[in-house]
Amino acid sequence: MSAPECGDEISQRLVAAAYETIAARYVVERHQIGAALLDADGAVHFGLHLDAMVGRAAVCAEAGALSAARLATSAPLVAVAAVRYPKPTETAPARIVPPCGLCRELLLDYAPGLAVVVTGTDGAGRLVSLAGLLPHKYVGTKWGAPAPALAEHTRTAL
Ligand SMILES: [Zn+2]
Repeated sequence: MSAPECGDEISQRLVAAAYETIAARYVVERHQIGAALLDADGAVHFGLHLDAMVGRAAVCAEAGALSAARLATSAPLVAVAAVRYPKPTETAPARIVPPCGLCRELLLDYAPGLAVVVTGTDGAGRLVSLAGLLPHKYVGTKWGAPAPALAEHTRTAL
């Protein structure tokens, strides 16, 4: 098995890293998804999905990667990819998965200019604006309004 193919260098790097993460740590019904999050300094931070007996207690791989990134650096975050590893009973290959709704909210709270790898109509991974996947994001009064503009380094990658 191998990482899904992508149409650009950043996507391929992140998808390969997310694939390698979950391929190394996959456990049936415990860890199915790995994530890789690129910061503006070029470092990649990793996350592992944590399933739970109570489904809503589960933690997504993207949330793990965000936590790892914030532990390591204050650098702006550029792009994220997540890859789902198939169960032993499945014949489908590993695939890129877009962030769930909760992760869209969470990631945008910390990285309004973030790009995310999704599968394009040609079947290859490609970068899109995460903000574009969550129009009308919830904005509370706790932190004030975030700046939703794409960071320059992200804009050039799209
Ligand atoms: Zn999620």
